[in-house]
Amino acid sequence: MTRIALLGATGSIGRQTLEVIDANPALELVAATSGSTAIDGLAPLTQVGGDPTELLERAQPELVLNATLGFAGLAGTMWALERGITLALANKESLVAAGELALAARARGGGLLIPVDSEHSALFQCAQLGEPESLVLTASGGPFRGLQRDQLADVTPEQALAHPTWSMGAKITIDSATLANKGLEVIEAHFLFGVPYERIEVVVHPTSIVHGLVRFQDGAAIAHLGYPDMRVPISYALSYPERAATPIPALDLTAGPLEFSEPDTDTFKMLALAREAGEAGGTYPCAYNAANEVAVTAFLDGRVGFLDIPALVADVLEHVDGTEARDLEELREADGRARELVEAAWA
Ligand code: NAD
Ligand code: MG
Repeated sequence: MTRIALLGATGSIGRQTLEVIDANPALELVAATSGSTAIDGLAPLTQVGGDPTELLERAQPELVLNATLGFAGLAGTMWALERGITLALANKESLVAAGELALAARARGGGLLIPVDSEHSALFQCAQLGEPESLVLTASGGPFRGLQRDQLADVTPEQALAHPTWSMGAKITIDSATLANKGLEVIEAHFLFGVPYERIEVVVHPTSIVHGLVRFQDGAAIAHLGYPDMRVPISYALSYPERAATPIPALDLTAGPLEFSEPDTDTFKMLALAREAGEAGGTYPCAYNAANEVAVTAFLDGRVGFLDIPALVADVLEHVDGTEARDLEELREADGRARELVEAAWA
C-alpha cells in the first residue's frame, strides 16, 4: 500500500486522482486538502484552506500528489521535497516559481519528483532511455489556434474556456488559450530535466495524441503517445516504477493523421515571455507566474481583456527586480511584489 496525501482534492486533477486511487487497491488516501470546498470524510485527515504543513506532518504520507492551483501549492511541494517524500507534481506553478530552491530541497531530501503534467510525464518516461539531447513539448494550440491578434481583442472567458482536447480547471484552460500554459511548461521542463532553454522546443499538435518527445545524440527521437486523459499520467506517478491498469482504451493509430506545426509566438506572446523569464532566471519566472495568475483571474472576472494578459505580464517583467531569492521568504516577497505591480496597473 502506498500512503497518499492529495493536495487540491476537489479540483480537476484532484477528482481524477481520487478515481485512480479508488480503482487501485495498492493505493491508500491518508490525507486530503482543498482550497475552499468542504471535503469531510474524504480521507482520515482532511483540511480546507490554509497551509498543509501540519496536516502532512500528522499524516506521514509516502507520496504527496500536489494538485493545488497556483503559487499556493508551494508549501506542499517544498514539504515533500525537503523530506525526501515522493512528490507527484501537477502543481507546475510551484516548481516554476521556486526553481532552484525546489531543486536544492530535492537534493537535500533525496526523494523522487515525478511529474503529473502530461507532457512532462511523457518526457520523464522517454528520458529513462538515455541522456536527452533536447526535449519537445506538444501544445494543442488551444481554442484560438490559427487566429490573428486583432481577432483576439474581444474574446470572452466563455470562448477561452472551450478547450478543444483537454477538460481542465478554469485557470489552466485560460493558460492554454494564451499559451502561458506551454510557457510555464517550458520552464517546468527546464527544472525537471536540467536541459537549457534553447534545447526545449514547442510544437503545436492539435489532437494532443503525442504528449512529448525526447531527442538523443544518436539521432533517435522517442515519443510518448496516448489519448488526452490525465488519469494516465496520474496513474503512472502513483504507481511508479510499476504500471497499473486504467480504463483508457487502446490508441487507434488509424484514426487520423498526426499534425505538427510551429507555434505563433507573435500572436500568443505568453510563450515567448516565458522563455525570456526563464532565460533571465532569478525570480523572473516567479514574477511571470504571479503576474499571469493575477491577470487570468482579472480576465475571468471580466475586469481585463484577453490581450491584456500578455500586456500586463510583459509590463511586470520589465519593471520587476528579478534578483534571485535566497530563501522561501524572499521568494514569497518576489511573488507578492509582482502581484502588486499587476494590480497597480489598473488601480
Ligand atoms: P482546479 O482549479 O480544478 O483545482 C484546484 C484545486 O486546488 C482545488 O481542489 C482547489 O480547492 C485547490 N486550491 C485552489 N486554491 C487553493 C489555495 N489557495 N490553497 C489550497 N488549495 C487551493 O485546478 P486543476 O485544473 O485541477 O489544476 C491543478 C494543478 O494541476 C494546476 O497547477 C494545473 O496547472 C495542474 N495541471 C492540471 C491539468 C488538468 O488537466 N487539469 C493538467 C496538467 C497540470
Ligand atoms: Mg500539460
